[in-house]
Parts: sequence; structure tokens; C-alpha cells
Amino acid sequence: MAKRVLITGAAGFLGSHLCDYFIQKDYEVIAMDNLITGQMKNIEHLMPLPNFEFYHHDVSKYVHISGELDYILHFASPASPIDYLKIPIQTLKVGSLGTHNLLGLAKAKNARILVASTSEVYGDPLVHPQTEDYWGNVNPIGPRGVYDEAKRFQEAITMAYHRFHQVETRIVRIFNTYGPRMRLNDGRVLPAFIGQSLRGEPMTIFGDGSQTRSFCYVSDLVEGIYRLLMSDYPYPVNIGNPDEITISQFANEIKALFDGKPEIVYKPLPQDDPMQRQPNISKAKELLNWEPKVERKEGLKITLEYFKSLSKEDLYELDHKDFGSFNKF
Ligand code: UDP
Repeated sequence: MAKRVLITGAAGFLGSHLCDYFIQKDYEVIAMDNLITGQMKNIEHLMPLPNFEFYHHDVSKYVHISGELDYILHFASPASPIDYLKIPIQTLKVGSLGTHNLLGLAKAKNARILVASTSEVYGDPLVHPQTEDYWGNVNPIGPRGVYDEAKRFQEAITMAYHRFHQVETRIVRIFNTYGPRMRLNDGRVLPAFIGQSLRGEPMTIFGDGSQTRSFCYVSDLVEGIYRLLMSDYPYPVNIGNPDEITISQFANEIKALFDGKPEIVYKPLPQDDPMQRQPNISKAKELLNWEPKVERKEGLKITLEYFKSLSKEDLYELDHKDFGSFNKF
């Protein structure tokens, strides 16, 4: 009998790559998404498969699955700063109420659950690179607080279900990840720079560009998540690529892909934008025998090809997500 896995946020960037991975490994995949930020085109190719089913559902509401379930991967959440600024209440609910529902489901089904946490739990970190035992420097009432605190609550309730109900839980702290199927207009730095370059607009660097990030290619991340799920380690594990660069350097690398054509303009740094971010991945190396393999040069090339293959409509539709109706709840 094939193992059954529920993936929430399945139509999103990471969720859809996880669906592909588990389908390839012959799992039965139950995909769930409310399609606020996810896009059906990311999983359309899986829809005809007999071992894939899709439920259009918001996990902040009670989640019902019939039959047995072996694993749950909770990846539903807006994840880009401009998204969670637009839908702050939904962001808080999916990280808190959504996680609660899925932990309850894991308990009822005796399933193992892995929740997607984030480097944002470290906030604007005072420890560098970030190790899992660092508690973070987060502004709870700032614009990013809705995401950061929902994810911190998520970690707390996940550990509580582990300790109090003996649910088998796993927590992955995901650092900046990129690759095909990112939304071109989700405001994050890589799609922003590539989208601007494809449209012939200048690239917008926020602040002076000295802030750092460390970018992991999506296939490396997915492999790390699978290994963590299969491990017996219930505490948070960082998964990311420690290759750290400044946003200015990153802009120049993208500029080079376009023969140095795009200009660069400077815009104000958003509030509470972390100044540095780099994962310490010793734990993942030691526990999971995992480390990233795809270099930025290679990953950027594949990602650029994906963005180039999108329609003109996608490229010019700057704010194609209408969150209006979701904000009422
Ligand atoms: N950034 C930028 N220009 C953009 C979009 C983002 O300079 O058009 C910066 C942003 O201020 C941050 C970094 O790039 O310092 C990464 O931003 P992103 O939104 O991708 O994710 P974050 O790591 O901040 O969650």
C-alpha cells in the first residue's frame, strides 16, 4: 500500500514542488490549498494522476480527510512580505488556527506532521550566522509581526502537541528559497529583479543594498525537508544555503544575466527588514547528512528560463492577486 501524505499550500511555490517530489516517490498525495496566493497552474500537470487529489479548502477551518494518513506537510501561508502586509489576519490564522487544525488531524490519524517554519523566527538577528538555539530578535507589532509571530506560535503549539500528546512532529526553519513557480509579482527580491529586467525597468534596491540574504535553490530545500521528515528529530532544523551575499551583489549577478542592461534605483528600506541572514546548517549536515548542491549561478539560470517562459500577461499584471474578499474574515 502506498503511503498517504497531505500537503497544505500545495498550489504554492514550495507546496507544488513537494507534491512533485512525493508523486515521484509513488506516494498518494492529497493536496490542499485555498488559492489565496497559490496558483492552480503549479499543479495542473498532476491533476490527471490517480494518486493525486486536490481539495480547495482553507486549513484555518476544520480539516476533514477520510481514510488513513501517514504524513502531513503544513506549507500553507502567505510567505512574501507584501502578501502578508495585504492579508495580515489570514497570515496569523493559517499559522495559528491552521496549524492547530492540522496537529489535531495528525493526532487523530496517528500521522507524522512536519510544519514549515522560517528564518523570520530569528527576526533581525543579533547572532550571525543563525543557529537553531538562537531565540531571535522580532518586533511583535511591526509589519512583519503577523508572519513572524504566527510562525513562532506555530513552533510553540507544535512542540506542545509533541510533548503533551506525543504526536510525531518535525519543524523546518526555511531560509530564502528560489526557483521556478515563484510568483513573478509577489514582491520578493528575485522575482522583483528578474521581472523588472524582463520588462526593461530599473531594478529596485531597498535601502543601500548592504543587507544580506542567503539563497537556496528549491530542489535542495525539498530534499532537506524530506530527510527531516524521515528523521526522528522533533526540534527545529535550519534548511537553507549558507552562501551569503548582499542585495547589491545579488542585483549585479542578475544584471549580468541581462548583459548589464538594467539600471538600478534605490528605494527606502521597508520597516524591520532584517539586515543580515545566513543559516548555520551544522545540524542538518550532522543529523540528515544534507547540504545544498545547486550553486546560485546554475539555479538562477534555470529560474530565469522559467520566468522567460511566462506569458506577457503574467509579466505585466503587476498586482494580479485580488485579496479583497479574503480580508473580510
Ligand atoms: N528587496 C529589494 N528590492 C526589491 C525587493 C526586495 O532590495 O524589489 C530586498 C528586501 O528589502 C530585503 C531583501 O531584498 O532586504 C529580500 O527581500 P524578500 O522580500 O525577497 O524577502 P525577505 O528575506 O526580506 O523575507
